[in-house]
Amino acid sequence: MVDIAIIGKGPAGWSCAMTARMRGLSATVIAPKNDTGWLRTAERIDNYPGMPMVSGREMLASFREQALALGAEERHGLVRQIMPLKDRFMLLVENDILEAGTVVLAMGAARPTLLPGEEEQLGRGVSYCATCDGMFYRNKKIAVLSASPQGAEECRFLAGLVSALDYYSLKHHQAQELPPMAVGKEEKPLSIGRSEEGLLLHTDNGSRLYDGIFIFRAAMPLNMLLADLATEGSFIPVDRAMKTNVPGVFAAGDCTGQPLQIAKAVGEGNIAAISAAAYLAHRE
Ligand SMILES: Cc1cc2nc3c(=O)[nH]c(=O)nc-3n(C[C@H](O)[C@H](O)[C@H](O)COP(=O)(O)OP(=O)(O)OC[C@H]3O[C@@H](n4cnc5c(N)ncnc54)[C@H](O)[C@@H]3O)c2cc1C
Repeated sequence: MVDIAIIGKGPAGWSCAMTARMRGLSATVIAPKNDTGWLRTAERIDNYPGMPMVSGREMLASFREQALALGAEERHGLVRQIMPLKDRFMLLVENDILEAGTVVLAMGAARPTLLPGEEEQLGRGVSYCATCDGMFYRNKKIAVLSASPQGAEECRFLAGLVSALDYYSLKHHQAQELPPMAVGKEEKPLSIGRSEEGLLLHTDNGSRLYDGIFIFRAAMPLNMLLADLATEGSFIPVDRAMKTNVPGVFAAGDCTGQPLQIAKAVGEGNIAAISAAAYLAHRE
């Protein structure tokens, strides 16, 4: 079990990891392998102290190197769900479980755009987790909607369970090889509805009926990630100690709101680590 699980490999996440290590805590920083953090795309940063004219990529590499040198662990994968238990948290990282004493949310401001009708059908046939829900669709007909190559990987697992599988791209991506039983569809998914027979996927070429629809993107909607997390629009409200409304869960960086700036993210990551350390010490 790790002391602090930090979700996100941006400035907030790495800063949090550094301070956690300085406090003698174990810290694991988690983000998908093909990272979607914003800073990676910035060509030049001029307002971060001590690093003039640096690119976002260079800055991130430097943060990462410093955190790893201090003993932080790095783990690849999208965190799909956080489950609070009595004295710890269980995180579903892709298809593996990670246990942590505290959690710091440092997921940036990017939020997935949901399809119309998607949220209404969540838990009623729409799922974001093949491992959690795949078994319910044994010998059934499903659709996989994916914005990344990860969808093809999940297809391989689901293909062993279901009787029919259609694969749709939500966003252009380097499609990996699909399992033989999966049918790649060219149509563009537009919305999700329901009829008496099951779920309806409406596309730019008509509607199709499915028993289940699995959706894979590079980020998770906040209410799916942690069920009781309070939100304000697409941001997470925190106090000055970076506490969220869920005890033991802290948030830092762009995900807490404006200004969306590196210096603010780094500062909040530092505070979140100090608060997480205090939470663990108090609990003991
Ligand atoms: C083009 C551009 C230029 C910019 N220029 C500047 C500038 O000059 N100065 C400045 O101060 N700011 C600038 N910014 C803003 C700056 O990039 C952000 O404020 C900063 O990156 C926020 O850091 P963060 O750690 O909060 O989030 P991010 O850097 O967005 O990192 C979020 C991390 O969370 C991960 N993640 C998200 N969801 C999950 C999940 N469910 N499971 C696992 N991991 C997840 C992502 O993959 C990513 O690693 C710029 C932004 C852009 C896009």
